[in-house]
Amino acid sequence: MDVFTPGGLIRDQRILTCITYNIFQDRDILHNFRIPGSTLVNFLMTLEDHYLKDIPYHNHYHAADVTQSTHILLKSPALEGVLTPLEELAALLASCVHDVDHPGLTNQYLINTSSELALMYNDESVLENHHLAVASKILQNPNCDILAALSHKQRISIRKMMIDMVLATDMSKHMSLLADLKTMVETKKVAGSGVLLLDNYNDRIQVLQNLVHCSDLSNPTKPLEIYRLWVDRIMEEFFMQGDKEREAGSDISPMCDRFNATIDKSQVGFINYIVHPLWETWAELVYPDAQQILETLEENRSWYESMVPASPVDILELREGSNEDDDVVDRDQEDDVADRGPDDVAEQDHNTPHHERADQEDEANGVADTEPVRDAPSHSLTGGGEPSSQSLAGAGGGESFSHSLEDGLEPSSQRLRGGGEPTSQSQQEGGEPASQSQQEGGELNELT
Ligand SMILES: [Zn+2]
Repeated sequence: MDVFTPGGLIRDQRILTCITYNIFQDRDILHNFRIPGSTLVNFLMTLEDHYLKDIPYHNHYHAADVTQSTHILLKSPALEGVLTPLEELAALLASCVHDVDHPGLTNQYLINTSSELALMYNDESVLENHHLAVASKILQNPNCDILAALSHKQRISIRKMMIDMVLATDMSKHMSLLADLKTMVETKKVAGSGVLLLDNYNDRIQVLQNLVHCSDLSNPTKPLEIYRLWVDRIMEEFFMQGDKEREAGSDISPMCDRFNATIDKSQVGFINYIVHPLWETWAELVYPDAQQILETLEENRSWYESMVPASPVDILELREGSNEDDDVVDRDQEDDVADRGPDDVAEQDHNTPHHERADQEDEANGVADTEPVRDAPSHSLTGGGEPSSQSLAGAGGGESFSHSLEDGLEPSSQRLRGGGEPTSQSQQEGGEPASQSQQEGGELNELT
């Protein structure tokens, strides 16, 4: 669904409040959990106010989009009657709070600049911990406490699930989350009626975590014109961080240099190594419910592939490894490069010249009227199509994503600090090796 069009029409752009309220009504959540309408509106408006409006991507539009996507994924026939109303509520709430008070900077930036939040959370899922803590503080306000009528046990349970889901949106957890999902798909248990059989908390929360993670990574599965709007927004956010890094004289993070970016190529890599493997596995879990989504994702990948010109560096490298004298990159050469691992991709990103800059500036300016260069040579990396699970594993936690906060920029962190230190340690199923998440094998960036 397109959140931009209604967002422009609703008074004060209350897109998160309106979309979430409608979903709650649609699902009869107000009645089932005895939530007064006024309390729900108070909660949602306060939450929406805590999303920073001047952040290009991680604002209330993104929160509304993820919540809407979660609402749709929860309707998957394969999940019919599988999740409890409390679990569904937890997934929707996790979605709408999952990036609250995001400063538009990565975890790594936050850590590198020794920001107060990084100190508070000891460099571990800094932003995700912060989002949860801000949401919890909002819920503590009696006027906003939509969970007031729940039993103590239900409140404990929904809090744990929300913590587990939001912490799992940290991209450094992506690889292990996906690995667990693949294992679940391989040993998939189905009840007599054809729906999934999830008979313990670990399995249930794993599905919920992946569902919300899929929603968070759903931009490339949306109609192309909407996907491209999201790309414009995330790139501007990255570039704003890059500007700060340039000003400070520090190294500019991957993808964050507005004068040296390869947007289309990055999207292809992001889809190939992160988004497609995840959605492909999810689609298998709920087969055939997500096939249409997967098809749109693959069409969008093809479009971005068609936008990536073959760079002179790639051609040069290919020639060195080949006896061919032709000026044109032929099929074999494309396949050759397609066999390379993600580490090579990262290296190439460093070396790619800046010839795509004009296109990127058009993109950043919202110029969408140029016809895609359909006959442009597809970038050699992408010529081979589908990444295998092996190539994904080969990325070795290849995402270098994280979001962070600059010192002093953050209004509500102070409010939060005043309230004492929130702790959340529930995301430890499987004993996540943090070292894996710290590897920076790739140059792909987070779109979450
Ligand atoms: Zn997000």
